[in-house]
Amino acid sequence: MSIAENVKSVQARVEAAARGTGRDPAEITLVAATKMNDAEKVREAVAAGIRVCGENRVQELCEKNEAGAYEGAALHFIGTLQKNKVKYLVGVCALIESVSSVELLEAISERAVKRGVTQDVLLEINIADETSKSGMRPGELPAILEKAGSLPGVRVRGLMAIPPIAAGKGENCVWFARMRQLFIDNSAKKYDNVSMDFLSMGMSGDFEDAIREGANMVRVGTAIFGARPYPPKAD
Ligand SMILES: *Cc1c(COP(=O)(O)O)cnc(C)c1O
Repeated sequence: MSIAENVKSVQARVEAAARGTGRDPAEITLVAATKMNDAEKVREAVAAGIRVCGENRVQELCEKNEAGAYEGAALHFIGTLQKNKVKYLVGVCALIESVSSVELLEAISERAVKRGVTQDVLLEINIADETSKSGMRPGELPAILEKAGSLPGVRVRGLMAIPPIAAGKGENCVWFARMRQLFIDNSAKKYDNVSMDFLSMGMSGDFEDAIREGANMVRVGTAIFGARPYPPKAD
């Protein structure tokens, strides 16, 4: 299967999953997770109808952006982020999905103010409380959303999660459901600089489950580009 065929097939599956729960497919943003795929492959995906690309590593993002890989698509950052690399992303990415700490949120705001932009972000939640994973704890969220009101450079647009690797089909539904509840609970109260629009969860193996559980943004790599040849390097 070509990348173009895969894009059509994933789009069709996203649409079917949305319709299956009575939702408008247009509400769902498909993010192509482009890590370890070169500029040419990314262009192929964009030409086939991908409107958002998600990149994991800052250096890879900068190189491919320089090469014009993402032209015609919006760019999201979805990987582990260090404070000293924030400067490469602010004003470049339409959305930084993986803000995993208050310190990072502050650093992004500071940089955005300097650049004269407002940076849209999602807060990454460590929903299964895994020690190996970055992300905020669900209980911290109200205080962090309150804090966002004092950070003029950012606008929090929602939540993102990477649940544990599922052993079997449907296994992640419990985490997706918890994320949806967290999203709903924290949308009820109005905070300054916060607009809870996006719930980003679900990858190649489980994006249909995620949509059924309330995701309106899914991040799909393998099902579009094929298996990656080697594991990602640390940034
Ligand atoms: C790689 C990646 C994805 C996509 O994973 P696939 O299983 O290849 O679809 C989604 N989200 C994040 C944060 C990723 O790093």
